[in-house]
Amino acid sequence: MKTGLLTHADCLNHVTPEGHPERVARLEHILHALEDLDLQRVTAPLAADDDLLRVHPQNHISDILDQRPSDGFKQIDGDTFMSPGSVDAAYRAAGAVVRAVDLVLGGEAPNAFCAIRPPGHHAETETAMGFCLFGNAALAAKHALDHHGLNRVAVVDFDVHHGNGTQDLLWDEKRALVITSQQMPLWPGSGRTDETGAYETVLNIPLAPGTGGAEMRAAYKAQAFPRLRAFKPELIIVSAGFDAHQDDPLANLNWSTGDFAWITAELCKIADEVCDGRIVSTLEGGYDLNALAEATRAHVEELMKAAQ
Ligand SMILES: [Zn+2]
Repeated sequence: MKTGLLTHADCLNHVTPEGHPERVARLEHILHALEDLDLQRVTAPLAADDDLLRVHPQNHISDILDQRPSDGFKQIDGDTFMSPGSVDAAYRAAGAVVRAVDLVLGGEAPNAFCAIRPPGHHAETETAMGFCLFGNAALAAKHALDHHGLNRVAVVDFDVHHGNGTQDLLWDEKRALVITSQQMPLWPGSGRTDETGAYETVLNIPLAPGTGGAEMRAAYKAQAFPRLRAFKPELIIVSAGFDAHQDDPLANLNWSTGDFAWITAELCKIADEVCDGRIVSTLEGGYDLNALAEATRAHVEELMKAAQ
């Protein structure tokens, strides 16, 4: 069976102002980089409101719909914008992760990657922020728990920024283990080790600016992987941000493309041990176009190797 690749052209219609790092070209570069890979290509559906309502109240959804501009841009906060195509893009992004969970739990794909935007891991319960409108990874987790009846799901977030939204949305969800590593200090400022969730199911791994591959690997081996193995998730969801790359302009970690391949391979190994290899990965950040495309390809190639 082949690794799933979920995307939709609507995700290219979420336009941000000139010079904004979270731009259409990111996804274009990724899709180009994945073009020749032998993947199971799946068109992402629009999410149903019921999917979004597992993590966001109706007023947040209505608020996003109400703010959609008919032309130009609507600024939501300091760095979050909407264009006329943003609502459909956000519904496709959320729909992609939900469908990916269905594919993987339904045995139609061993694992899957969602090449989507806007990203999701900064969106809090009632707050769109940090380029994110809906909490894609968290709603994928809730879909797996509530719709498919799983008992334990893990989210691993290796984006360079703290997954504050995922942490917020799953804070009091004892069936979900949230592991997030992030450069600290760095926007949004949260992600300290004492943020552990209502049921001690949140693990924050702050990394000092300049942290390279060796220290990252040591931190994951010492903290993340033992927690993940002990929790025995029935599905691993990955918030795959590639902005910890040494070439990324928004942060100061020094991971190489090989480090992203390594962490993916390790997560696949653990998934093989605990959940028949089931992984759903979704794109978060990554703002150097070449590094993003290269690291995403390395990530997807590891998923493909594990699928064989
Ligand atoms: Zn990021």
